[in-house]
Amino acid sequence: PDLPARGELILTEVGFGYREGRNVLDGLTLTVDSGERLVIAGETGSGKSTLGKLLAGLYASDHGTVRFAGHDLAAVDAARLRSRIVLVPQEVPLVDGTLAENLAMAAGSPDRAAVARTVDLLGLADWVNSLPYGLDTTVSTRTLSAGERQLVAVARAALTDPAVLILDEATAGVDHGTAARIEEALSALADDRTLIVIAHRADTVARGRRLLEMPGGRLTDIVRETAD
Ligand code: ATP
Ligand code: MG
Repeated sequence: PDLPARGELILTEVGFGYREGRNVLDGLTLTVDSGERLVIAGETGSGKSTLGKLLAGLYASDHGTVRFAGHDLAAVDAARLRSRIVLVPQEVPLVDGTLAENLAMAAGSPDRAAVARTVDLLGLADWVNSLPYGLDTTVSTRTLSAGERQLVAVARAALTDPAVLILDEATAGVDHGTAARIEEALSALADDRTLIVIAHRADTVARGRRLLEMPGGRLTDIVRETAD
């Protein structure tokens, strides 16, 4: 069945480990409301990226369930899931080709005008125009920083009209200008979508959204929730 365009994400008693007997997540229960802005913070290795992948249905939990709009992600067709819940990973891979091709790849075949409109909408026109050939610039992991690649992935996501966007902030290679651009693009995209930011930068954490923290070294439970 088709997934609804909007919905809440609910984790119930989720357990996950990469190795038998060593759980990264244990008994995690969490509701992310439709349209909510959520920041998840925690120490290196505490399980933030793992949680992001579970929320996006990229990993299946060992115990418990992850549901979007009432649908168990484990039972949802992968292609349908990818169009509703998008994870921007810490390291965004690019395909060989132009910026326009990299932006269009997840959205079937959007026309050039749709790509350009999205670039405008997300406030990225200046950045795109600063590249030697604009949208026709050949891009690669050598020419774009980790932060710029995340920017590409956010714009790529915007073209697929997701219900939930999860940004796992890059730990390195994000200068202030790029961080500000990502922030602006997220704000423009957010609308009534659910936005989950896995934060490494202190200024993201301070943004006054609901914040989930993970206790030292290992995510076993949520220790604090603050509403803004
Ligand atoms: P960081 O802040 O460095 O991004 P994180 O909070 O995102 O860290 P995770 O990447 O979720 O942490 O990792 C949680 C734990 O699981 C760590 O102990 C890590 O070594 C381990 N881990 C992560 N990915 C794998 C994997 N593919 N195989 C085995 N162990 C893994
Ligand atoms: Mg991580």
